[in-house]
Amino acid sequence: MTRTIIEGGYVSTVDAAGTEHREGYVVVDDGLIAAVGEGTAPAPLREGADIVAANGCLVTPGLVNTHHHLYQWLTRGYAQDAILFDWLTALYPLWSQIDADLTRAGAAGAMAVLARSGCTTVGDHHYIFPRGSGDIVGAIVESAARVGVRLHATRGSMDLGASQGGLPPDFAVETTDAALTASQEAVERWHDPSFGSLVHVAVAPCSPFSVTADLLREAAVLARSLGVRLHTHASETVEEDAYCAEHFGKTPTQYLEDLGWLGEDVWMAHGVHLDAPAISRYAATGTGVAHCPSSNGRLAAGIAPVHDLLQAGVPVGLGVDGAASNESGQLGVEIRQAVLMNRLRTGADSFSVRDGLRAATVGGARVLGRDAEIGSLEAGKLADIAVWRVDGVEHAGILDPVAALGLGALPPLHRLFVGGRSVVAEGELVTAEEPVIAEEVAAASRALAARA
Ligand code: ZN
Repeated sequence: MTRTIIEGGYVSTVDAAGTEHREGYVVVDDGLIAAVGEGTAPAPLREGADIVAANGCLVTPGLVNTHHHLYQWLTRGYAQDAILFDWLTALYPLWSQIDADLTRAGAAGAMAVLARSGCTTVGDHHYIFPRGSGDIVGAIVESAARVGVRLHATRGSMDLGASQGGLPPDFAVETTDAALTASQEAVERWHDPSFGSLVHVAVAPCSPFSVTADLLREAAVLARSLGVRLHTHASETVEEDAYCAEHFGKTPTQYLEDLGWLGEDVWMAHGVHLDAPAISRYAATGTGVAHCPSSNGRLAAGIAPVHDLLQAGVPVGLGVDGAASNESGQLGVEIRQAVLMNRLRTGADSFSVRDGLRAATVGGARVLGRDAEIGSLEAGKLADIAVWRVDGVEHAGILDPVAALGLGALPPLHRLFVGGRSVVAEGELVTAEEPVIAEEVAAASRALAARA
């Protein structure tokens, strides 16, 4: 047995009671959390253990990203001043040149940055599969293994081209049948439902304005027959509301519910424009929300009603969203972003730094259906752990270490563990060479730009 003890730091367990230890310890046996407590680990547990000194550090669960488009790492900096529909229209031609090799490079860059910002579980939504583009989902799985993070890949799709009334150009979409067949193949090939799994796959048609009702309906049937989750974009912008009113005579929530798309096996990206009836339906059905505050700010989409969602009991996690609408790509940063934006919407006491940390950890785990395994520091869970330095110039002397994460500069990462495996040490990846990844990303970005 391999035993590691992390001790000497401020431990925020994010368990149901919000237990915190001013100076605590976490014992990890073979990748599983064996014990958590106040003070130093008891003597009988110390024999033969590797000790990770966390003095001057904040110890939290690894962060869980619930929405991303990893390939967009190659298209940062485009359409900087556009709203969603104009931004999408500007980027579709570029994205439709993507292939497996380019995606592999972009995904490695995006996941390296996620890991360096405290993220241990990466949700991805890939929805553009040009003809002849190779095994894109396989490339993403490969890059996750290289960086050493837990992956929730989703096999996305679009089948509603502009000639049929959709937003994407016809050359960017698949047929309905091809999308369904490929989704099933991706689940059968990569989805591992076992405890501690490093790869889950979900089914994820892209959005109400890029997908037919047939694909949404059939995707829900398929996912449920395979026992996997469903994911899409919903209620992101007022333009989407107008599109659904015009084409379906419904709100996005009514439209999706009529197609079988509310349920505890479903999570939606954004949920910015959810009205009171929609929030009630999400709560009654257990539908989750990936809150992506930076992306919503970049595209001026609005601020999601997270306070109301949480009050109603809706599962809420955080997401960075694709780097084309959030060039930071750092999940740790989204905690502060969520705190600030939700306060702008609902007031200073409506969303605390601990609410932010909870959404970024166990909230996200619940959204992904993994809260029995990850999201809090409790005995029996996987050792996905972030150890943040709060004794440097950014945070030395701060009254509350959790406020360093929720209000201050993103603290440097001392260590990051995924299932007990060391992924980041002293702020740098130990699983892969960062300069090599950076070079690959630069070359792939240039190659993609040259194709368009
Ligand atoms: Zn998105």
